[in-house]
Amino acid sequence: MNPVKRILALALALLAVGACGLTRPSSMDTEGADSFEDDVRTARTLTEAFWTQQFQQSGRTYRPIADFIPYSGNSGPSCGNQPAVPNNAFYCPIGHFIAFDQTWMDSLWNEMGDGSVYVIIPHEFGHAIQAQLNTNFQLNVQMELQADCYAGGTLSALVGSGTLQAQQGDEDELLLSLEAAGDPTDDWLNPSAHGTAEQRQASFATGYRNGVNAC
Ligand SMILES: [Zn+2]
Repeated sequence: MNPVKRILALALALLAVGACGLTRPSSMDTEGADSFEDDVRTARTLTEAFWTQQFQQSGRTYRPIADFIPYSGNSGPSCGNQPAVPNNAFYCPIGHFIAFDQTWMDSLWNEMGDGSVYVIIPHEFGHAIQAQLNTNFQLNVQMELQADCYAGGTLSALVGSGTLQAQQGDEDELLLSLEAAGDPTDDWLNPSAHGTAEQRQASFATGYRNGVNAC
């Protein structure tokens, strides 16, 4: 276990006993992304590069999302006949795109640090992955938790390769983001199903510790 992971494991353990509090936001990226827009762009690029490689390793071809759409409030794109809602990010299987309320995400970024962006974006890409791996893609609790696990696995791979850096406190930041971001309405088919904060954090931790293949 390398020192970085040791710190993260410790943070996770602390969180498990309830010692969580907002930490001073710290930057995860090592590529100089220092604005919200940079972080969103970087999170997308890195996540798609990761999955492209993962798919290649298993003899598959990753299909990049068709669009990545920022919106504000009620101005988002609809998915089928479901309108976009404020304070949300979602993957739409019809059209294979991701959309996000940038005003809402920008405020999370300000309050919680860039970890919030590096959880939300990989989580939505998790759904884009599910849609490619499952012929009957439907959102439900299992899919939400698996997307959290995928997000954890994606982030640990990026930290492991040195693409992102995790500092003490980042894990708290990431797990708090899961709670705050907890996409209650990106379940197009079942609005009530997204898992408890504890379940979501546990899934994220599984992916973070064991990689996306454990999801
Ligand atoms: Zn989701």
